[in-house]
Amino acid sequence: MKLASKYGEVVQESLNALLEDESFLPNFKEEERKKAFTSLESILSTPNQIQKSFLRVPLENGKVLRIPAFRVQHNNAVGPYKGGIRFHETVREDEVINLATLMTLKNTLHDVPFGGGKGGVVINPREFTEKELHTISKKYVHNFSDILGPDKDIPAPDVGTGEREMDWMMGEYKSIHPGRPYRGSFTGKSQVNGGSLGRREATGKGVYYTLRYMLHNFVNENEEWFKKNENRFAKTALNHTNRQLTVGIQGFGNVGSVAALESYTCNYLDTKVVAVSDRNVTLYNEEGLDIKALIEFTSQHEGDLPTTDEALSQSNIKAEIQDREDVLYLDTDVLILAALEEQIREDNVDKVKARMIVEGANGPVTLEADRKLSDDGVLIIPDILANAGGVIVSYFEWLQGRETQFYSEEEVFTMLFKKMKETMDNIYPQFFSDPFPLRQNCYIHSVMKLSNILYRHGKLY
Ligand code: NAD
Repeated sequence: MKLASKYGEVVQESLNALLEDESFLPNFKEEERKKAFTSLESILSTPNQIQKSFLRVPLENGKVLRIPAFRVQHNNAVGPYKGGIRFHETVREDEVINLATLMTLKNTLHDVPFGGGKGGVVINPREFTEKELHTISKKYVHNFSDILGPDKDIPAPDVGTGEREMDWMMGEYKSIHPGRPYRGSFTGKSQVNGGSLGRREATGKGVYYTLRYMLHNFVNENEEWFKKNENRFAKTALNHTNRQLTVGIQGFGNVGSVAALESYTCNYLDTKVVAVSDRNVTLYNEEGLDIKALIEFTSQHEGDLPTTDEALSQSNIKAEIQDREDVLYLDTDVLILAALEEQIREDNVDKVKARMIVEGANGPVTLEADRKLSDDGVLIIPDILANAGGVIVSYFEWLQGRETQFYSEEEVFTMLFKKMKETMDNIYPQFFSDPFPLRQNCYIHSVMKLSNILYRHGKLY
């Protein structure tokens, strides 16, 4: 059977590798083993549920729109479904399925006791008033209310949504289900509304941490590997203590701006952010950009970076303005992708010069491009590993809502790094001892854990 989603192919490869490994599910032999693996393929290839609904939204100008919206629940073997809600004009059902599948695998990889879900609404939020966005958020909860809830499916913010939308949505959930627990129904809420300290920064901090932990901790411990592998990544990694590492970052929103600030202020690695980009421009300065000034600018300009020389000089920021895509092709040591999916593809992969890529966004490198880059010796820290900070702190938020006990910011980041370190300590050593790229290692780990749980739940017979 062919796995449907784009993550299907790598999951399939993981299952093929596990089929050969007789220490995995050793109770299944020969024909029984083949049957069990066929069951695993069918379970992991299809979501448990896809719901589509048209939200009826009266606009302030008197028109009424019917807006397509989705909630996909991929798998809940590990716990309630969990995944963001995206407001973007490019939302499509198949992509929501992909992202829900990735959430199942990501949560399992990091031992977060949630399954995988994802939602989306096909709108450009910039074209709607605040009142209309409020209506859209409430209608989303109203139309999907039967399948959402603190022990069923817990949404969070994604592209185009944030704490404002989560607060509105939780408010609507509470009204629809009076007297029922509601705090854990949404995460990524504002702090006054039960949100966790550190949630906003969690993904960007985690993204940078995966890079830092690789370079600061693993490179020194694996010198032999680097001497044997004179590839693009190895050369950069071995030299990183002698010079500043240059970093380019695509996307300067929630994830990108925090990863940029971490690179700018990090005491462990000597990193210099030479380029950042957003939906309009790339800004470049080979001496390093003033990230604090750029964050200040975006906070006053609806999240957008400066797009003119005048705006740059008014804010005293030194940078050259380049095309939006240019950030992808600069000669930097590290490229952090924190915008949208499918940014590096077969048709543009040859132009990429970076030696390390960290996926802050979900699926920013296509599988074809990933293979090409890995063959060329580029290290890619994949989304499933790198951008889990958000869902991990969402889990802490959900726990805090249950306990009505709140953790300090320091406690949240300590717990976040501890959890990510545990995952990396499982994954990184294997990268240095077997031929699989990191992404494949992550999938094998995750599929193995999921399969064990499904087996123990008696789902493979
Ligand atoms: P965001 O909306 O805050 O920021 C997105 C950024 O990308 C903005 O700077 C925007 O201008 C830029 N952008 C949009 N279109 C672009 C284009 N075509 N080219 C270049 N830049 C473009 O979103 P975010 O929360 O930072 O999320 C970014 C990515 O990270 C998404 O793929 C999201 O799914 C993923 N992600 C986010 C979180 C989280 O906690 N926020 C967690 C996991 C994964």
